[in-house]
Amino acid sequence: ARQFTRPLNELANQYNTLLSAIAGAERVFQILDEEEEAKDEGDAVEIESVEGKVEFQHVSFSYEKGEQTLEDVSFSIRPGETVALVGPTGAGKTTITNLLSRFYELNEGRIEIDGQNIQAIKRKSLRQQMGFVLQDSFLFQGTIADNIRYGRLDASDDEVKDAAKLANAHTFIEKMPEGYDTMLRADGSGISQGQKQLLSIARAILSNPSILILDEATSSIDTITELKIQDALKRLMNGRTSVVVAHRLNTIRQADQILVLDGGRIIEQGTHDELLETKGFYHGLYHSQLKESG
Ligand code: ADP
Repeated sequence: ARQFTRPLNELANQYNTLLSAIAGAERVFQILDEEEEAKDEGDAVEIESVEGKVEFQHVSFSYEKGEQTLEDVSFSIRPGETVALVGPTGAGKTTITNLLSRFYELNEGRIEIDGQNIQAIKRKSLRQQMGFVLQDSFLFQGTIADNIRYGRLDASDDEVKDAAKLANAHTFIEKMPEGYDTMLRADGSGISQGQKQLLSIARAILSNPSILILDEATSSIDTITELKIQDALKRLMNGRTSVVVAHRLNTIRQADQILVLDGGRIIEQGTHDELLETKGFYHGLYHSQLKESG
């Protein structure tokens, strides 16, 4: 999670620097967009909307020369399916999501969305098809409403509120001193980890993406908030392609596909029942770690 959130945190820091200098969030977003566009290939295209088919074809990648972080990773996700990425720390789960969202560029192979090579798509356009719910959610200094509206800048107050309701965030927001107008600090202090997650789910619901990238929290969140998160996530994931760096047994068990990674390779692939039957790595993982957390 750390690696993946870094690019987003950098954006957040830039945002806050700019915020003090320029009035008007739209101008700020415009500047961030322009920076991203500068990195796109000259003939990169915009995409309108996608169904959400995702395909990795023999993808290899290393952050640094001489290291192989991902090696010959291939898998295919049908639109609307949920894929759980599991495996030990450092296996390459987060890296898969980093490549899919093009925060890093693969070295070998190809990644397609709806049959189109993602390298031919403008980064901003690609990410507009995606929603992110990460452990360290990207919040910026601004009101709660603005933080949710970041999912879709032209959303009305009612749309922001509806998204918050679907995300089970409305109740806690209403209890804040100034409700939706309560200012959040850039470091996110003042609200809990779980509440941050609910806000990022609201933001993702508002942006209505075809593809979701989720990084499940490993830190403990109180049971009631945890149930709210689970319930909201279920609503968010319904009908969308979801790639989940998964830690909870429930999520993993319900996934259409589980990819077990170790050392940058997919070592097992299948559903929960299929993988238990093969009595391999997943079977061991399940009995040693997953059972208790479920
Ligand atoms: P996981 O999500 O399964 O814990 P990651 O995809 O985060 O694993 O990491 C895979 C490997 O790549 C690890 O060895 C990690 O140390 C390394 N790595 C991750 N991000 C970076 C980075 N930004 N620079 C260099 N190495 C990295």
